[in-house]
Amino acid sequence: MMKIIDLRSDTVTRPSEPMRQAMATAEVGDDVYRDDPTVITLEETCAERLGFESTIFTSSGTQANLIALMSHCGRGDEYIVGQLAHTYKYEAGGAAVLGSIQPQPIEFEADSTLDLQKVAAKIKPDDIHFARTRLLCLENTQNGRILPADYLQEAASFARDKNLVLHLDGARLFNAAVGQNVAAGDITKHFDSTAVCLSKGLGCPVGSLLCGTQSFIEEARKWRKMVGGGMRQAGILAAAGLYALEHNIDRLATDHENASHLAEGLGKIDAIEIEGGKAHTNMLFFEMDEATASELALFLQKSNILMSPGKTIRLVTHIDITEDDVELIIEKINSFFSARK
Ligand SMILES: *Cc1c(COP(=O)(O)O)cnc(C)c1O
Repeated sequence: MMKIIDLRSDTVTRPSEPMRQAMATAEVGDDVYRDDPTVITLEETCAERLGFESTIFTSSGTQANLIALMSHCGRGDEYIVGQLAHTYKYEAGGAAVLGSIQPQPIEFEADSTLDLQKVAAKIKPDDIHFARTRLLCLENTQNGRILPADYLQEAASFARDKNLVLHLDGARLFNAAVGQNVAAGDITKHFDSTAVCLSKGLGCPVGSLLCGTQSFIEEARKWRKMVGGGMRQAGILAAAGLYALEHNIDRLATDHENASHLAEGLGKIDAIEIEGGKAHTNMLFFEMDEATASELALFLQKSNILMSPGKTIRLVTHIDITEDDVELIIEKINSFFSARK
Protein backbone atom coordinates (compact mmCIF):
# COMPACT_ATOMS: atom_id res chain seq x y z
CA MET A 1 0.00 0.00 0.00
CA MET A 2 1.31 3.44 -0.97
CA LYS A 3 1.94 5.68 2.02
CA ILE A 4 -0.52 8.51 2.56
CA ILE A 5 0.97 11.75 3.85
CA ASP A 6 -1.88 13.34 5.75
CA LEU A 7 -1.40 17.01 6.63
CA ARG A 8 -5.01 17.68 7.63
CA SER A 9 -4.50 17.19 11.35
CA ASP A 10 -2.49 15.36 14.00
CA THR A 11 -5.68 13.43 14.84
CA VAL A 12 -5.10 11.19 11.79
CA THR A 13 -2.19 9.26 13.33
CA ARG A 14 -2.48 5.50 13.55
CA PRO A 15 -1.24 3.48 16.52
CA SER A 16 2.26 2.09 16.01
CA GLU A 17 3.05 -1.63 16.26
CA PRO A 18 4.48 -1.39 19.82
CA MET A 19 1.47 0.71 20.88
CA ARG A 20 -0.85 -1.97 19.47
CA GLN A 21 1.17 -4.59 21.40
CA ALA A 22 0.70 -2.64 24.63
CA MET A 23 -3.03 -2.44 23.91
CA ALA A 24 -3.34 -6.13 23.05
CA THR A 25 -1.68 -7.23 26.28
CA ALA A 26 -3.31 -4.68 28.62
CA GLU A 27 -4.79 -5.92 31.87
CA VAL A 28 -8.44 -4.79 31.95
CA GLY A 29 -11.57 -4.69 34.12
CA ASP A 30 -14.84 -2.80 34.25
CA ASP A 31 -13.82 0.82 34.74
CA VAL A 32 -17.32 1.95 35.75
CA TYR A 33 -16.73 -0.31 38.80
CA ARG A 34 -13.18 1.17 38.95
CA ASP A 35 -11.90 -2.35 38.27
CA ASP A 36 -9.62 -1.53 35.36
CA PRO A 37 -6.02 -1.40 36.61
CA THR A 38 -4.65 0.06 33.36
CA VAL A 39 -7.09 2.99 33.40
CA ILE A 40 -6.24 3.64 37.05
CA THR A 41 -2.50 3.54 36.30
CA LEU A 42 -2.95 5.97 33.39
CA GLU A 43 -4.98 8.36 35.54
CA GLU A 44 -2.49 8.22 38.41
CA THR A 45 0.48 8.62 36.08
CA CYS A 46 -1.03 11.68 34.44
CA ALA A 47 -2.06 13.29 37.75
CA GLU A 48 1.45 12.88 39.09
CA ARG A 49 3.11 14.08 35.92
CA LEU A 50 0.99 17.23 35.68
CA GLY A 51 0.91 17.93 39.41
CA PHE A 52 -2.80 17.39 40.10
CA GLU A 53 -4.54 15.38 42.85
CA SER A 54 -6.60 13.36 40.42
CA THR A 55 -7.33 12.58 36.76
CA ILE A 56 -10.16 11.02 34.76
CA PHE A 57 -9.81 9.25 31.40
CA THR A 58 -12.39 10.43 28.83
CA SER A 59 -13.44 9.36 25.36
CA SER A 60 -12.48 12.68 23.73
CA GLY A 61 -11.16 16.16 24.37
CA THR A 62 -14.63 17.55 23.78
CA GLN A 63 -15.95 15.33 26.56
CA ALA A 64 -13.09 16.31 28.90
CA ASN A 65 -13.78 20.04 28.38
CA LEU A 66 -17.55 19.56 28.67
CA ILE A 67 -17.44 17.70 31.97
CA ALA A 68 -14.82 20.17 33.25
CA LEU A 69 -17.17 23.09 32.57
CA MET A 70 -20.15 21.19 34.00
CA SER A 71 -18.20 20.34 37.16
CA HIS A 72 -16.92 23.87 37.74
CA CYS A 73 -20.07 25.78 36.71
CA GLY A 74 -23.72 25.50 37.62
CA ARG A 75 -26.83 26.31 35.65
CA GLY A 76 -26.87 30.02 34.75
CA ASP A 77 -23.12 30.47 35.32
CA GLU A 78 -20.89 31.95 32.66
CA TYR A 79 -17.42 31.19 31.30
CA ILE A 80 -15.15 33.59 29.44
CA VAL A 81 -13.43 32.04 26.45
CA GLY A 82 -11.73 32.87 23.14
CA GLN A 83 -13.97 33.57 20.16
CA LEU A 84 -12.12 30.88 18.17
CA ALA A 85 -11.52 28.59 21.15
CA HIS A 86 -12.32 24.94 20.74
CA THR A 87 -14.52 24.92 23.86
CA TYR A 88 -16.61 27.71 22.39
CA LYS A 89 -16.60 27.26 18.62
CA TYR A 90 -15.84 23.62 17.93
CA GLU A 91 -17.74 21.66 20.59
CA ALA A 92 -21.24 22.08 19.18
CA GLY A 93 -22.24 24.47 21.97
CA GLY A 94 -22.16 21.61 24.48
CA ALA A 95 -21.55 23.74 27.58
CA ALA A 96 -24.64 25.84 26.75
CA VAL A 97 -26.82 23.00 25.51
CA LEU A 98 -25.99 20.34 28.08
CA GLY A 99 -24.60 22.44 30.92
CA SER A 100 -26.83 25.53 30.80
CA ILE A 101 -23.58 27.47 31.02
CA GLN A 102 -23.46 30.75 29.10
CA PRO A 103 -20.31 31.45 27.10
CA GLN A 104 -18.87 34.97 26.96
CA PRO A 105 -16.47 34.83 24.02
CA ILE A 106 -13.83 37.51 23.40
CA GLU A 107 -11.26 37.82 20.60
CA PHE A 108 -7.87 36.20 21.01
CA GLU A 109 -4.89 38.56 20.78
CA ALA A 110 -2.33 37.92 18.02
CA ASP A 111 -0.27 35.82 20.44
CA SER A 112 -3.30 33.65 21.33
CA THR A 113 -3.66 35.10 24.82
CA LEU A 114 -6.87 36.65 26.10
CA ASP A 115 -6.18 40.24 27.17
CA LEU A 116 -6.85 40.24 30.90
CA GLN A 117 -8.11 43.82 30.85
CA LYS A 118 -10.71 42.82 28.25
CA VAL A 119 -11.57 39.77 30.34
CA ALA A 120 -12.01 41.99 33.42
CA ALA A 121 -14.38 44.23 31.47
CA LYS A 122 -16.61 41.24 30.71
CA ILE A 123 -16.93 39.99 34.27
CA LYS A 124 -20.55 40.64 35.25
CA PRO A 125 -21.39 42.47 38.49
CA ASP A 126 -23.28 40.59 41.19
CA ASP A 127 -26.76 41.65 40.11
CA ILE A 128 -29.98 39.75 39.36
CA HIS A 129 -29.78 40.82 35.71
CA PHE A 130 -26.60 38.92 34.98
CA ALA A 131 -25.24 35.44 34.68
CA ARG A 132 -22.62 34.71 37.31
CA THR A 133 -19.15 34.85 35.75
CA ARG A 134 -17.44 31.81 37.13
CA LEU A 135 -14.61 30.58 34.92
CA LEU A 136 -11.88 31.66 32.53
CA CYS A 137 -10.83 29.17 29.88
CA LEU A 138 -7.48 29.36 28.06
CA GLU A 139 -6.15 27.20 25.24
CA ASN A 140 -2.52 26.04 24.89
CA THR A 141 -1.43 25.56 22.19
CA GLN A 142 -3.92 27.71 20.29
CA ASN A 143 -3.52 27.33 16.51
CA GLY A 144 -0.09 25.91 17.35
CA ARG A 145 0.92 28.97 19.35
CA ILE A 146 2.35 28.54 22.83
CA LEU A 147 1.08 30.86 25.58
CA PRO A 148 4.01 32.81 27.10
CA ALA A 149 5.07 31.57 30.56
CA ASP A 150 4.76 35.01 32.19
CA TYR A 151 1.24 35.36 30.79
CA LEU A 152 0.22 32.12 32.52
CA GLN A 153 1.49 33.53 35.80
CA GLU A 154 -0.47 36.77 35.27
CA ALA A 155 -3.63 34.91 34.27
CA ALA A 156 -3.42 32.74 37.39
CA SER A 157 -3.08 35.68 39.75
CA PHE A 158 -5.80 37.56 37.82
CA ALA A 159 -8.17 34.59 38.20
CA ARG A 160 -7.42 34.38 41.93
CA ASP A 161 -8.07 38.11 42.38
CA LYS A 162 -11.34 37.95 40.46
CA ASN A 163 -12.51 34.73 42.06
CA LEU A 164 -12.60 32.88 38.75
CA VAL A 165 -11.79 29.24 38.19
CA LEU A 166 -9.01 28.83 35.59
CA HIS A 167 -9.37 25.92 33.13
CA LEU A 168 -6.86 24.98 30.47
CA ASP A 169 -7.88 23.33 27.24
CA GLY A 170 -4.49 21.70 26.79
CA ALA A 171 -5.41 19.43 23.91
CA ARG A 172 -1.83 19.98 22.69
CA LEU A 173 -0.30 20.71 26.10
CA PHE A 174 2.72 18.50 25.41
CA ASN A 175 3.46 20.34 22.15
CA ALA A 176 3.54 23.53 24.23
CA ALA A 177 5.80 22.00 26.88
CA VAL A 178 8.23 20.52 24.35
CA GLY A 179 8.19 23.72 22.27
CA GLN A 180 8.92 25.82 25.36
CA ASN A 181 11.40 23.30 26.71
CA VAL A 182 9.69 23.08 30.10
CA ALA A 183 8.00 20.28 32.02
CA ALA A 184 4.27 20.10 31.25
CA GLY A 185 3.69 20.56 34.99
CA ASP A 186 5.29 24.02 34.78
CA ILE A 187 2.42 25.01 32.50
CA THR A 188 -0.41 23.19 34.28
CA LYS A 189 0.56 24.39 37.79
CA HIS A 190 -1.17 27.69 37.04
CA PHE A 191 -4.56 26.06 36.39
CA ASP A 192 -7.36 24.60 38.50
CA SER A 193 -7.99 21.97 35.84
CA THR A 194 -6.50 20.83 32.55
CA ALA A 195 -7.74 18.71 29.65
CA VAL A 196 -5.13 16.90 27.51
CA CYS A 197 -5.60 14.90 24.29
CA LEU A 198 -3.89 11.56 23.77
CA SER A 199 -5.32 11.14 20.28
CA LYS A 200 -3.43 13.99 18.58
CA GLY A 201 0.36 14.35 18.46
CA LEU A 202 0.77 11.59 21.04
CA GLY A 203 -0.47 9.09 18.48
CA CYS A 204 -3.20 7.23 20.41
CA PRO A 205 -6.34 6.06 18.61
CA VAL A 206 -8.74 7.43 21.26
CA GLY A 207 -8.78 9.29 24.52
CA SER A 208 -8.21 12.39 26.59
CA LEU A 209 -7.52 13.13 30.22
CA LEU A 210 -8.98 15.70 32.60
CA CYS A 211 -7.00 16.67 35.71
CA GLY A 212 -7.92 18.61 38.85
CA THR A 213 -8.59 18.21 42.55
CA GLN A 214 -9.98 14.99 44.00
CA SER A 215 -13.45 16.44 44.60
CA PHE A 216 -13.57 18.06 41.14
CA ILE A 217 -12.72 14.76 39.46
CA GLU A 218 -15.35 12.93 41.53
CA GLU A 219 -17.91 15.43 40.26
CA ALA A 220 -16.58 15.03 36.70
CA ARG A 221 -16.97 11.27 37.02
CA LYS A 222 -20.71 11.70 37.53
CA TRP A 223 -21.06 14.05 34.54
CA ARG A 224 -18.96 11.72 32.38
CA LYS A 225 -21.38 8.90 33.19
CA MET A 226 -24.34 11.14 32.33
CA VAL A 227 -23.00 12.07 28.91
CA GLY A 228 -22.36 8.43 28.08
CA GLY A 229 -18.63 8.38 28.76
CA GLY A 230 -18.53 5.59 31.35
CA MET A 231 -16.38 3.04 29.53
CA ARG A 232 -15.98 -0.57 30.57
CA GLN A 233 -12.78 -2.49 29.63
CA ALA A 234 -11.18 0.82 28.68
CA GLY A 235 -7.74 -0.41 29.72
CA ILE A 236 -7.23 -1.42 26.08
CA LEU A 237 -7.34 2.30 25.25
CA ALA A 238 -5.58 3.46 28.41
CA ALA A 239 -2.64 1.19 27.55
CA ALA A 240 -2.12 3.24 24.40
CA GLY A 241 -2.12 6.37 26.55
CA LEU A 242 0.47 4.95 28.95
CA TYR A 243 2.62 3.92 26.02
CA ALA A 244 2.32 7.43 24.55
CA LEU A 245 3.20 9.20 27.81
CA GLU A 246 6.36 7.13 27.99
CA HIS A 247 7.47 7.11 24.35
CA ASN A 248 5.79 9.81 22.31
CA ILE A 249 6.31 13.09 24.16
CA ASP A 250 9.97 14.01 23.61
CA ARG A 251 9.67 13.08 19.95
CA LEU A 252 7.16 15.94 19.42
CA ALA A 253 10.32 18.04 18.90
CA THR A 254 10.74 16.18 15.60
CA ASP A 255 7.22 17.20 14.51
CA HIS A 256 8.09 20.80 15.33
CA GLU A 257 11.33 20.60 13.32
CA ASN A 258 9.45 19.06 10.40
CA ALA A 259 6.88 21.87 10.53
CA SER A 260 9.70 24.44 10.56
CA HIS A 261 11.37 22.85 7.55
CA LEU A 262 8.07 22.74 5.74
CA ALA A 263 7.46 26.43 6.49
CA GLU A 264 10.97 27.34 5.28
CA GLY A 265 10.59 25.34 2.08
CA LEU A 266 7.11 26.62 1.27
CA GLY A 267 8.03 30.19 2.25
CA LYS A 268 10.40 30.27 -0.73
CA ILE A 269 7.50 29.83 -3.13
CA ASP A 270 6.33 33.26 -4.39
CA ALA A 271 2.64 32.40 -4.14
CA ILE A 272 2.91 31.43 -0.46
CA GLU A 273 3.35 33.67 2.52
CA ILE A 274 3.56 31.71 5.74
CA GLU A 275 1.55 33.38 8.49
CA GLY A 276 3.93 34.91 11.03
CA GLY A 277 6.83 33.86 8.80
CA LYS A 278 7.26 30.49 10.49
CA ALA A 279 5.64 27.36 11.85
CA HIS A 280 4.17 27.30 15.36
CA THR A 281 4.94 24.00 17.09
CA ASN A 282 3.51 21.42 14.65
CA MET A 283 1.38 23.75 12.51
CA LEU A 284 1.76 26.32 9.79
CA PHE A 285 -0.82 28.52 8.12
CA PHE A 286 -1.08 30.50 4.90
CA GLU A 287 -3.81 32.28 2.98
CA MET A 288 -4.86 31.31 -0.52
CA ASP A 289 -7.87 31.93 -2.71
CA GLU A 290 -10.23 29.04 -2.29
CA ALA A 291 -10.31 27.94 -5.93
CA THR A 292 -6.52 27.62 -6.05
CA ALA A 293 -6.55 25.82 -2.71
CA SER A 294 -9.05 23.26 -4.06
CA GLU A 295 -6.91 22.71 -7.16
CA LEU A 296 -3.82 22.31 -5.01
CA ALA A 297 -5.56 19.78 -2.79
CA LEU A 298 -6.63 17.73 -5.83
CA PHE A 299 -3.14 17.94 -7.32
CA LEU A 300 -1.50 16.74 -4.10
CA GLN A 301 -4.01 13.96 -3.69
CA LYS A 302 -2.60 12.35 -6.84
CA SER A 303 0.67 11.97 -4.92
CA ASN A 304 -1.17 10.67 -1.84
CA ILE A 305 -0.69 13.93 0.03
CA LEU A 306 -3.81 15.11 1.85
CA MET A 307 -4.59 18.69 2.88
CA SER A 308 -7.84 20.49 3.71
CA PRO A 309 -8.62 23.21 1.17
CA GLY A 310 -10.02 26.56 2.32
CA LYS A 311 -9.19 30.23 2.52
CA THR A 312 -6.71 29.63 5.29
CA ILE A 313 -4.60 26.54 4.71
CA ARG A 314 -3.45 24.75 7.85
CA LEU A 315 -0.78 22.08 7.52
CA VAL A 316 -0.08 19.87 10.52
CA THR A 317 2.91 17.58 11.13
CA HIS A 318 2.77 14.50 13.35
CA ILE A 319 4.26 11.13 14.19
CA ASP A 320 3.37 9.60 10.79
CA ILE A 321 5.15 12.33 8.76
CA THR A 322 8.90 11.99 8.22
CA GLU A 323 11.64 14.37 7.12
CA ASP A 324 11.59 12.73 3.67
CA ASP A 325 7.83 13.29 3.47
CA VAL A 326 8.44 16.99 4.14
CA GLU A 327 10.88 17.16 1.22
CA LEU A 328 8.35 15.47 -1.03
CA ILE A 329 5.56 17.85 0.03
CA ILE A 330 7.74 20.90 -0.71
CA GLU A 331 8.73 19.45 -4.08
CA LYS A 332 5.13 18.73 -5.08
CA ILE A 333 3.76 22.11 -4.00
CA ASN A 334 6.66 23.78 -5.80
CA SER A 335 5.85 21.93 -9.01
CA PHE A 336 2.17 22.86 -8.71
CA PHE A 337 3.00 26.57 -8.63
CA SER A 338 5.82 26.36 -11.22
CA ALA A 339 3.37 24.82 -13.70
CA ARG A 340 0.99 27.77 -13.20
CA LYS A 341 3.52 30.52 -13.94
C1 LIG B 1 -8.89 18.60 19.22
C2 LIG B 1 -9.11 19.60 20.27
C3 LIG B 1 -9.96 19.35 21.35
C4 LIG B 1 -10.72 18.06 21.57
O1 LIG B 1 -11.12 17.42 20.43
P1 LIG B 1 -11.70 15.94 20.35
O2 LIG B 1 -11.70 15.72 18.91
O3 LIG B 1 -13.02 15.96 20.97
O4 LIG B 1 -10.76 15.03 21.09
C5 LIG B 1 -10.10 20.34 22.30
N1 LIG B 1 -9.43 21.50 22.20
C6 LIG B 1 -8.59 21.77 21.19
C7 LIG B 1 -7.85 23.05 21.17
C8 LIG B 1 -8.40 20.83 20.19
O5 LIG B 1 -7.57 21.11 19.18
